[in-house]
Amino acid sequence: MQHGNSSAPAAAQLHGDAEADVVVVGGGFAGVTAARELDKMGVSVILLEGRDRLGGRAENITIGGGKIGNIGAQAASRHHHLAIGLAREMGVDVFPLRHDGKAVLVTEEDRIEFEIPDPKDPGWQWEDAVETLQQWDEMSKEIDPERPWEAPHAEEWDSQTVMSWLQRHVGDPITQFLVAGVVGVGASPPHQASMLGMLAYGKASGTGFASDHMFVRGWQKFDGGVQTIAVRAGERLGIGRKVYLSCVVRRIEQDGDGVLVQGDGFRAKAKRVIVAMPPHLTGRIDWRPALPGPRQALNQRIGSVGGYLTLAVYDEPFWFREGLTGHAMSPSEVVPATLDDSPKDRSYGVITCLGDPYDSSRLRTATPAERRELQLKSLAKYYGPKALKPEAFLEKDWYADPFSAGGLPLFSPGALTNCGQALRTPVGRIHWAGTETATWNVVHWEGAIHSGVRAAKEVAERL
Ligand SMILES: Cc1cc2nc3c(=O)[nH]c(=O)nc-3n(C[C@H](O)[C@H](O)[C@H](O)COP(=O)(O)OP(=O)(O)OC[C@H]3O[C@@H](n4cnc5c(N)ncnc54)[C@H](O)[C@@H]3O)c2cc1C
Repeated sequence: MQHGNSSAPAAAQLHGDAEADVVVVGGGFAGVTAARELDKMGVSVILLEGRDRLGGRAENITIGGGKIGNIGAQAASRHHHLAIGLAREMGVDVFPLRHDGKAVLVTEEDRIEFEIPDPKDPGWQWEDAVETLQQWDEMSKEIDPERPWEAPHAEEWDSQTVMSWLQRHVGDPITQFLVAGVVGVGASPPHQASMLGMLAYGKASGTGFASDHMFVRGWQKFDGGVQTIAVRAGERLGIGRKVYLSCVVRRIEQDGDGVLVQGDGFRAKAKRVIVAMPPHLTGRIDWRPALPGPRQALNQRIGSVGGYLTLAVYDEPFWFREGLTGHAMSPSEVVPATLDDSPKDRSYGVITCLGDPYDSSRLRTATPAERRELQLKSLAKYYGPKALKPEAFLEKDWYADPFSAGGLPLFSPGALTNCGQALRTPVGRIHWAGTETATWNVVHWEGAIHSGVRAAKEVAERL
């Protein structure tokens, strides 16, 4: 793996040789949690993070003047008890994402303001969409989130995308869009995602599809940013003591005695290793001996999507004054969905523009200035001309960040039935964590935390 990163202070990096019972690779929520859990059990642990910061796909971006925005993970459902519990433990204030107002739907012909539906009493056009989501909840009853590939209809559902299922079973294009929009905010683009993967995602949510969770009702925000939670958790373990930054792991060797985890200028010896990285990145590590076939197949087939996010920053959240929540969606706009990312005290306003799964080429081939203009024009359709003049406009292409090379997990058709069994199966002394491996709230940072707890327990039982 070629990416280098050496901007963390020397004292935060590992130099030379070190030894512990367990090495954890990756300092996102999964890795930090695994290290914390092992540490609590009295197991000696070293965490190696390639970036010069913790948090992985949760990242605070500095706007200026002490303002920050979430350029990665933003929010958590009120049902994400691990995420909310960890935030509170780390002294990070939890506050509700606003939903006491109207959301906006923009179509080619219309701009409609609507109450974010309560799935129990959806009203308007949402009735058909909620009926479809209820049908998915019925279908997903046969899925065990630990083993979706064993569901009686696994092959059938894994051989189609969410959109091909919708096109076959839901005639009305607006209903197709609403369903796709609901699940697309939290999960994968419906044109690319496996129907089996989507049903497993719903089952693992604990609430199902026809729930407040999927409609971003009752979601929670984190004062100071989501990344702060991971940073504080890592600091409590000890940066430069148990947690090391700017340590890119390039080779992992194992034999009957233990594992050797290596990068430029450091080697860490342990009895076992937990690899808490997205699967598609683990293919970059030089494994000795090579990983078995099913795991290598999995590393190529569980992909990553939704890797583009922008924040438009204003001197105030003017949409609140207009009775809008900051939640918007459109089947035709360059910005297909937005959420509010304003701070708790509302001293400035931030609109998050979620990626463009329907037509990413329109943005990807544009210059930065064109991208800004295209997206601001979309925002103006949702929120009026004030949206055209932000104080700042910040973007991140997560695909271009070598430590993520994408955003959310993509379970594409065939991946789960072909190689899903390799997701969590240890390879000798190598164990796997990360939201992709989660059986509870997969995709979310809640899932990452859950996977870290599971991996730590799995390893502790084998020491
Ligand atoms: C744009 C965006 C928005 C999101 N919004 C939300 C949201 O609102 N709510 C929600 O619940 N979830 C959201 N998510 C998903 C959430 O961010 C992830 O589920 C979660 O952060 C994943 O954590 P993880 O620990 O599994 O993986 P990661 O956070 O990816 O952690 C993996 C770590 O491994 C490190 N690493 C990689 N290669 C190496 C190497 N060779 N050596 C050492 N270290 C290495 C990386 O630097 C990284 O820190 C969003 C994600 C993105 C990208």
